[in-house]
Formats: sequence, structure tokens, C-alpha cells
Amino acid sequence: MTVTGPIAVVGAGIGGLAAAALLAGKGRDVTVFDRFEAPKPVGSGLVIQPVGLSVLDRIGVGAEARALGAPLWRMLGHEAQSGRAILDVRYGPDGGDRFGLAIHRASLFHLLYEAARAARVPIVASAMIAAAPEVPGGRDLITSDGRRFGPFALVIDAAGAGSALSPLLARPLPYGAIWGTVPWQDGALPAGRLSQRYLRASKMAGIMPLGRLPGQDRPLAAIFWSLRRNDLASWHARDLSDWKAEVTAFWPDFAPFLETVQRHDDMVGALYSHGTLRRPWGKGIVHIGDAAHRASPQLGQGANMALLDALALSVALLSDADNPLAVYAAMRRWHVRIYQGMSRAFTPQYQSDSRILPMVRDHLLVPVSRMPPVPRLLSRLVGGDVLPPLAGHPFP
Ligand SMILES: Cc1cc2nc3c(=O)[nH]c(=O)nc-3n(C[C@H](O)[C@H](O)[C@H](O)COP(=O)(O)OP(=O)(O)OC[C@H]3O[C@@H](n4cnc5c(N)ncnc54)[C@H](O)[C@@H]3O)c2cc1C
Repeated sequence: MTVTGPIAVVGAGIGGLAAAALLAGKGRDVTVFDRFEAPKPVGSGLVIQPVGLSVLDRIGVGAEARALGAPLWRMLGHEAQSGRAILDVRYGPDGGDRFGLAIHRASLFHLLYEAARAARVPIVASAMIAAAPEVPGGRDLITSDGRRFGPFALVIDAAGAGSALSPLLARPLPYGAIWGTVPWQDGALPAGRLSQRYLRASKMAGIMPLGRLPGQDRPLAAIFWSLRRNDLASWHARDLSDWKAEVTAFWPDFAPFLETVQRHDDMVGALYSHGTLRRPWGKGIVHIGDAAHRASPQLGQGANMALLDALALSVALLSDADNPLAVYAAMRRWHVRIYQGMSRAFTPQYQSDSRILPMVRDHLLVPVSRMPPVPRLLSRLVGGDVLPPLAGHPFP
């Protein structure tokens, strides 16, 4: 079942563009399809963990990513009423070479898009893929307006959380968030860290430096505010100044970051879900990134998972393995399972209506998290390398 012949990637997102750049860079015939008229990223910022940075280095865009993004050496969260630190994870010493890279999605997209283009990958826009039926020679792609492309020896489904090709039935999580991109405020908060405030698990706010957009000098920040899934619609009906007053009372340091938020549309709602495909491949099709596994962004791993999937798949496809799709799945199985399990365990401690879980968090888990060697373990967990990301294969 070695894959020879043309490969289609559905989705010009993080995983899709990374896979296309890695495969086309090694001479494979790859075409990317995306639903957007002009492929573009949606949303604010995210954290590329050390493992994800290694994949960006492999693609050849790591240095540019570091130049655009903002290094995070620490993630620090305080309980709003007591002021106690209840999340304190360090990647390494401040100024050291191990850090999470906070970056605007548009900056990351720009780098991966240019890498795919440099590898001469054709990108077919305005192609909303609805199906990928088996045909002689592989699979075709059919768009929602009835166009047909193919056949392709392999379809890589990198269409993200809304993939029409993935059989994954993910469980909707009760909480989502609204996210905004605003100017970074010098001196308002220490640079080099993600700062958060919590009240139990029902309120959470965060501020993260983001670096800058390509071609611009102004440093940016991502801001986010946790909301119940069912409250997203009513937030849009709420008076904006009333919401700003609530956030500012909750966390006064937030106030300067809210100045440029003038309309509800300046904040983008995000809903989260959780689930994992047991077998992320079938005949002539393979699923990577959010199409294969979804989780809340609490651990900041989704983009990294997509990058690692893309790397594992390219390594498997470029090997002489008899069944490279099974090899890809085996390489990623345990890393994905452990992180999905951790995300499932951690998320309700920070986003849920439970009163017990945040008490357990504050009075049991926080003290334990300060006992050696737990800080080191947490640092490895967040960094993405608590266990080998590509089982049986050297990494990076
Ligand atoms: C608010 C928020 C914050 C996050 N923060 C972090 C973080 O800090 N760190 C982290 O690692 N991860 C984070 N994540 C998760 C991360 O964004 C995702 O896990 C990651 O983008 C998944 O990459 P992907 O390539 O699978 O999908 P995506 O990047 O979503 O790309 C999917 C692509 O497929 C295209 N597409 C979709 N359907 C079709 C179709 N039918 N036909 C054609 N094209 C299609 C889309 O247009 C898109 O371009 C966050 C997610 C959210 C929502």
C-alpha cells in the first residue's frame, strides 16, 4: 500500500500547509484545496510549543517565526479574589532558549503558506470539499458546488474541527471563549509570559503577548475571556461597556488592553470540543490535526499536534514502509492519547461550573505542582515532549 502518485491536501491550515511543504519539498506531487476564496487564517494568537518549533525548523521557517512571535518563558495564573498564584509553569530560565512562542495565526499562516508556495504546491481556493469517494486509482474530491478533482493516490484530510471527511464525532465542551487581538501595552504586564486570572472555574481571563504581523512593527497581544457555550449569543446582545466594566473589575490590569475593543466584532467567539479518532486513516485517506483529534486549547497543544502529525505523516510517506498510513498512526498514537487525556483532565479545572474541581485544584494540585520534580514534569508537559512525539523515530 505504498503511496505513489498525486496527493491532495484538504485544508490550507496549520497541519495541511505543513504537510504540503514537507512532502512537496521532497519532490512529492501535492495539491492543497481550501474553502476560502483567498486562503487566510481565522482568529487571534496561539502558542507554538518547543516541539512545534522543531517542526517549523524542519520546514525552514523557524527563524522567521521566532522573529515574528513573542517568546513565553512562563505561564502564570492568579486566583482573582485571593491573588494566589495557582498556575505557574516555566519553560526554563527567563531569556533562555527553551520557550513557547506566542504568535498571531496570520503570522504563522503567512510563513507556512510561503513555505508551501516555495515548494511549488498549487493551492486551489474556493474549493469547499464535501466528499472524497473511492475511485479506480485512489480517491476523487468533490466540492459542495459539484466540481470533481482527481484521482489522487492519497487524500490528506487537514480540514480542521469542521472536516466533512473525518468520521470523528467530538463531544462539545460546555465552555468556549471570546478572543481579540489588541495592541500590546508596554509596562502594563511583564513581557515574556502568558498571564491569566480565574474565579473558580467559571471565570477566566488571559493576556498573551503575540509579537507582530508580517510587515508591521507594532507589537500585539491576544486577550481572551471564557464564556459558557450557551452564553455566547447573549454576550453579543450585551452592552459592550457593561462587559468591559465586568472584566476590569475582575482584573484591573485588563483595562488598557480593552481600549481598542469598540465593537462586539472586535472579539471572535470560539467553541471547543473533545474527541480522538481511534484509527486516523482508511483506504486512500488519512486525517491529521483537528480532523483527527480535538481538545480545548487549555494546554496550548492543538497547533503543535497538527505540526507533529504533518511531520510524522511526511516521514512515513517518504519511507519505504509497506503501509505508511499505519506507520504514521503508530508514531503518533501514544503522544496524542496522553495529551488528549491530560487535556480532558485539566480543562474542567479551568473551564466548568464545578465548585469542587477548582477547590481540589487550589488546595491539592497547586501545592503538589510545586514539589520537585513536578515543576519539571509540568514544563515538559506544556512543552509537548513529556514523551517522544514521534514514537520510534528520532525527534527533532
Ligand atoms: C481560540 C483557540 C485558541 C487556540 N490556542 C492554541 C494554542 O495556544 N496552541 C495550540 O497549539 N493550539 C491552539 N489552538 C488549537 C489550534 O488552533 C488547532 O488545533 C489547529 O489550528 C489545528 O490545525 P489544523 O491544521 O488541524 O486545522 P486548521 O488550522 O483549523 O485548518 C483547517 C483548514 O481547513 C479548511 N477547511 C475546513 N473545511 C474545509 C472544507 N470542507 N474544504 C476545504 N477546506 C476546508 C479551513 O478553511 C482551514 O484553512 C487554539 C484553538 C482555538 C479555537
